[in-house]
Amino acid sequence: MRKPLVAAPPRLQRMILQLQRYNIDIQHKPGKHIPVADTLSRKPIECDSQTLCEGMDFQIHSVICNAPVSDRKMAEIRAATAQDEQLSRLKQMIQSGWPDSRKRCPTTVAEYWNHRHEISEVDGILLKGEKIIIPHSLRTDMLSRIHTGHLGIEKSKQRARDVLFWPGMGKQIETLVGSCSICLERRHSHQREPMISHPIPERPWQVIATDLFTWNSRDYIVAVDYYSRYFEVEKIVSLTSAAVITKLKAMFARFGVPQTVISDNGPCYSSQEFKNFAHSWDFEHITSSPLYPQSNGLAEKTVQTAKALMDKAHAQRVDPYLSLLEYRNTPVDGLKSPAQLLMSRRLRSVLPATEKQLQPVLSPRCTFQSRRQLCQSRQKQYYDRSARALPALSQGSTIRFQLPSGTWKPATVIGPAPTQRSYNIVTDEGQMLRRNRCHLLQTQEPNPEKNASDPIKPASTETERLQHPDADPLEPEETSQLVSTRSGRIVRPRVVLDL
Ligand SMILES: [Zn+2]
Repeated sequence: MRKPLVAAPPRLQRMILQLQRYNIDIQHKPGKHIPVADTLSRKPIECDSQTLCEGMDFQIHSVICNAPVSDRKMAEIRAATAQDEQLSRLKQMIQSGWPDSRKRCPTTVAEYWNHRHEISEVDGILLKGEKIIIPHSLRTDMLSRIHTGHLGIEKSKQRARDVLFWPGMGKQIETLVGSCSICLERRHSHQREPMISHPIPERPWQVIATDLFTWNSRDYIVAVDYYSRYFEVEKIVSLTSAAVITKLKAMFARFGVPQTVISDNGPCYSSQEFKNFAHSWDFEHITSSPLYPQSNGLAEKTVQTAKALMDKAHAQRVDPYLSLLEYRNTPVDGLKSPAQLLMSRRLRSVLPATEKQLQPVLSPRCTFQSRRQLCQSRQKQYYDRSARALPALSQGSTIRFQLPSGTWKPATVIGPAPTQRSYNIVTDEGQMLRRNRCHLLQTQEPNPEKNASDPIKPASTETERLQHPDADPLEPEETSQLVSTRSGRIVRPRVVLDL
């Protein structure tokens, strides 16, 4: 009685309605204390009295009418229910009564045990509360109808739970949406993942990052030191490995060979020539995932700095090398200047400086390290506020990978790649790629190699018509006209859907 009237099974609704004029108090009494009740329920009155049956027809009619289903569909459900073995058994259970314990419940209808008090039959249709129980033969069709608008998993579930019921419906909707190619292809990009901070190097010019950029239709190369943020920028004649290597060699001859060089996966860095260079000059070369320049963040940031510097110098017609010198002499992150951190001295510039100021001074490494650690953790904290880690992908899982255009294409995971959060994948066309986790999406699509038949995918022409309606896609399907009452309450007309 505590349930709202609409949630009660329709066969109880009428009783509850009739009892509303009384102030009643319901108490539970075990059957053994009621000697006559059982007898009475087994000997109902012959229904020839008009007053007793009054409203009965109306009640049955109103339950069916209020269901948001068309008459044609209702007839189809009724016919399918009659043919459904499990639902026929369920109907018998409603009529003959459920057993006292779950153990004695027939296995065919066991999955309805927890809902047994809510299940009723009206006019050949089984209901759970007010929701229609869909027979097996119509479930696939219903699933595709639920997903006609290609809403997400939660929305589709809410939509279905509003009017329909069958055991395991939610799970099946998840599978359907998780394998819908139309939805997957147009999925939003992932939320960003928590920042991975590069470890702070022990000494200057130990780890450098390099990148190429174009400014004023000329190509340039930058190399930036992770320790001091000191950077070199040089014009290059071509974008070949040879040109890039020559420039890097000049820099390494100046400051020494770094232990690690980080770059993106551009052709000049991923060539065999560059591999040979790394080998003969004895440094480790790490490349970031293609299309995921964030992992080469410092080089990217330095490109912006270099461009801005050159832009301003160009606009003011001053020497860009003087601007570069001033930058190298300016403290960063509240630390010493890049020049001081790299070479332990200020560089003489056009600004006046005393002899003492230009003398080399060694700065203790620990102060620098703790200061930089603090800056990094602050940046990470700020960045991670809207970040969420993505679960790891296992070998052989079916996925989609995001193209630069934003669309998601199917592929399979080969395994993790050496760089953090990267995976080697193979596309449906057989192309091998490496991608960052943020461009990969776990799906529930069948593996094309296994050639598994999709149990969910419906093939009826009616479904296809629903998924590709000829009507204007911008035309809303449900035009709900809102009517407000005198008190201002908005009345929404009951939408009759062709479910
Ligand atoms: Zn979809």
